[in-house]
Amino acid sequence: MQQRIKISIKGAVQGVGFRPFIYKLANSLGLKGYVLNNPQGVIVEAEGDEETLAEFTERIKSDKPAISLIQNLVVEILPLDNYKDFEIRKSNLSGAPNAIVLPDIATCKDCRDEIFDPNNRRYLYPFTNCTNCGPRYSIIDSLPYDRKRTTMKMFAMCTECKAEYENPDDRRFHAQPNACPVCGPHVELWNAERNVLSINNDAVTETIAAVKEGQIIALKGLGGFHLVVDAANIKAVNRLRGNKLRVEKPFALMYPNIESIKSDCEVSEEEERLLLSPQSPIVLLKRKVDCRIPDEVAPLNPYLGIMLPYTPLHHILMDGLKCPIVATSGNVSDEPICIEENEAIRKLKDIADLFLVHNRPINRHVDDSIARIVMNEKVILRRARGYAPMPVIINAGNEEHILAVGGHLKNTVAVSKGNEVFMSQHIGDLENVEQYNSFCGTINKFKELYKVEPEIIVSDLHPDYISTKYAVDNYRKTESVQHHVSHVLSVIAEHSLKGPLLGIAWDGAGFGTDKTIWGGEFFRFDETGYRRTAHIKKFRLPGGESSFREIYKSAFGLLYEVYGDEVIKHLPDNVSGNEAGLLLQMIKKNINSPECSSMGRLFDAVASVLGIRQKVNFEGQAAMELEFLNEGFSSEESYKYAITNDNGVSVIDWTEVIKHLIDDKENSLSVNIISVKFHNTLVNIIVDIAKRVNENIVALSGGCFQNKYLLESSIKELRKNGFDVYWNKEVPANDGGISLGQIAYFSYFKKIK
Ligand code: ZN
Ligand code: ZN
Ligand code: FE
Repeated sequence: MQQRIKISIKGAVQGVGFRPFIYKLANSLGLKGYVLNNPQGVIVEAEGDEETLAEFTERIKSDKPAISLIQNLVVEILPLDNYKDFEIRKSNLSGAPNAIVLPDIATCKDCRDEIFDPNNRRYLYPFTNCTNCGPRYSIIDSLPYDRKRTTMKMFAMCTECKAEYENPDDRRFHAQPNACPVCGPHVELWNAERNVLSINNDAVTETIAAVKEGQIIALKGLGGFHLVVDAANIKAVNRLRGNKLRVEKPFALMYPNIESIKSDCEVSEEEERLLLSPQSPIVLLKRKVDCRIPDEVAPLNPYLGIMLPYTPLHHILMDGLKCPIVATSGNVSDEPICIEENEAIRKLKDIADLFLVHNRPINRHVDDSIARIVMNEKVILRRARGYAPMPVIINAGNEEHILAVGGHLKNTVAVSKGNEVFMSQHIGDLENVEQYNSFCGTINKFKELYKVEPEIIVSDLHPDYISTKYAVDNYRKTESVQHHVSHVLSVIAEHSLKGPLLGIAWDGAGFGTDKTIWGGEFFRFDETGYRRTAHIKKFRLPGGESSFREIYKSAFGLLYEVYGDEVIKHLPDNVSGNEAGLLLQMIKKNINSPECSSMGRLFDAVASVLGIRQKVNFEGQAAMELEFLNEGFSSEESYKYAITNDNGVSVIDWTEVIKHLIDDKENSLSVNIISVKFHNTLVNIIVDIAKRVNENIVALSGGCFQNKYLLESSIKELRKNGFDVYWNKEVPANDGGISLGQIAYFSYFKKIK
């Protein structure tokens, strides 16, 4: 029987070759009708016999393009309309946009083959792309996704490109950023005075030569600038560090191909898959013993952050260089990455020698994502290129549009519509006016893109976070969520968990409901709300926030709890008598010595006590070094701790842990074994509290769980004891996940407020 159906498809279905796929499928089945993009997704109408239409619907689901995502597919039966053929119709612009904006996608194999084929018209063309790859989020202005609403609108397609674009059988059919050497963007090599030194292939060739000579290149890529040097050139690496004022923080690397990575690092099957995925993130990989990358790239770090080329420009460069390069963010320390060439010249002229730029505008900064493999699965540590702004689907939808402004460090923002949460790309630490502007800009562009005027704004409970102040200053109705509650909710939302469950949030610092600094928290969640069931014993941080960098101050506060006035006898060598006296007075007189229950600060304090370092250059540095001490060492031993009860809340007392750890050190036990014992102790504490709370599900979150040893050991031990364990995978466990947790809070608990 002849039938006419209308199929409405929602999801990641625009800019992924979905319409040509439908067109080809319909024609191959002899169906008539049309397909078009509308602001909500894709609409298909098809006429044919009933059975063929059923097959058509099934094959849309099973054969859809690799990077597409169908969230919702609805079929309606309509009266016959007697279509004559199957056509691709113009986009329909009416209605509220609800289509998903796709992330930027790494160059596909077909395009790669073309750019290295001397007979192809795109031979060595750095802006080659197709419906399966290329820029998306970084170039889009507004929905629906069409060329005239991207930064490609300024390039008129030549006859050949236009023919590809209009031919449904071509793999560039409706590839919005389609371009070629005749009509598309091009590259230029500039010096710091903005003089054009060379263009096109010559610019790339000269860049390759300059990198080999040890020069620093600012390279305009997909979502912003990179600073690039030859990774094997210690002098160049050190000059980049000096110019960028970046001390010890690891640099990311780009390698020419997967084989070259394998010669320097261990690469598991899962890691290889992740490196080669369309998202193409930076993957943390373990160095091999004979790794040729100098330590200066990632001092004292057994891991390297490595990515593969993900644009044609990178492929062409790396093919010429044939060696790994440092490819670090093109920014002035702590500022957002530069996205525009004049801005780059202004800001990076004292850092870079040369600028390889192009004239395809970048609409928003999108940093490289960072991921690693934990328990054989991907865990995202920084969510940006390739992942943002794909939605996270939560099981508690909201009628209202909600904007979550995130935390303070590693900020991201999010908006929710129904049960979709759109999380922004990584914005950064909101420590200066440039980052604050970038934060405001991202919010405004997000509101425009998704056409939302949020009714509810959610921020962190911390009254002094700049993100909180933004919320309070700009909106009448704001809600705030305790930082660690947000962390746990980010796991609950990501995995659509239903309580009751135990949520554990361990991180550096967050504002507690008692106005002290939290960070070693255990919560019991159920559908009615949450309760703080346990936390680590508090200690003081003389000097307040200065202790976050000068970690011996954390150690001082910790040791004061253990030894009282005797603390002076147990201090790290570098603390002078004068300073020690001062710190002691600060604690005793309660001057700028806030209390904390932070696991991150406990890690810092232990690192200081063990003499690993006394100051850190970036957040988490001491904890990372403590974790790295475990590499290659094992011990079944751990330290004893006590659990006391404070009005029904369990308090984990680490006093004996610290005493015995110091004994071990004084008895010359290796710091490696001490570190393993300390980590084992933390795992024991987790299992212990899990047993006491006695709920099946345990959710782990917070920056401390970026520690692979701690996370994997906790998962294994909890599982051994019969618990179901969940952790952040698609969303960072660090403060990059806070915005999701803030939205989830409102979704799950609004009824009980
Ligand atoms: Zn392609
Ligand atoms: Zn062209
Ligand atoms: Fe946090």
